[in-house]
Amino acid sequence: MTKERINPWLEKSIENILPLSISNDFKVAFSEWLFSGEVIDYGHVCVECELCEHDELRYHYKINNKLTDKLLWVGSSCILRFEEIAVFNENNEAVTSPDERRKVLERALKDKQIDISLEPLRKLWSVNFERRNYIHYQAEEIKSRNSISPDALNVLFMDFKKFEIDFKPEHYSVNLRDSLNQYQLLNMNEESQKLIWKTMSSQQHTKYRNKMKFKT
Ligand SMILES: [Zn+2]
Repeated sequence: MTKERINPWLEKSIENILPLSISNDFKVAFSEWLFSGEVIDYGHVCVECELCEHDELRYHYKINNKLTDKLLWVGSSCILRFEEIAVFNENNEAVTSPDERRKVLERALKDKQIDISLEPLRKLWSVNFERRNYIHYQAEEIKSRNSISPDALNVLFMDFKKFEIDFKPEHYSVNLRDSLNQYQLLNMNEESQKLIWKTMSSQQHTKYRNKMKFKT
């Protein structure tokens, strides 16, 4: 290995990756690793990258060594920085351009977040027999479009509360594109508006800040 001065994050990364790899050449060692497709969203900044030891991460991405079976939970920026770490698209083809690699990581995170948001719906489906078709329909909408109407979110949130199912409004997105959906938002009661507010993007916040029934 080269003895020239290298920057601290690279030094730490090499220190952490070599013991879990076969090769002693760090570039070759990194090429033994691949992104597994697994992501954890901790909901807030609380973990560190097991490669470069940078802390203040909210998301962990799992990388595996294909020769030693070892694994590390790292930040997405480390996967992007070390281009030797293999990243595969949905057709199982290795992607090499920085842009494509970033897109695979973003897709994996989005899929994970959709999956997290569907968990309370699955629980609700198993206890609320009367509304099963509705819940199923909304779950499909979330999977295909990501966002659903304010009324649909409100129905689900009220049901989660009624059946004491844990949920975080922040995990959902509201669709406010058409005028019916906007009407729904502006005409629901204050308690419901407060919950829907938490599902809204910063652009939506800017647009609706002065129209809500409560002070934002
Ligand atoms: Zn890192």
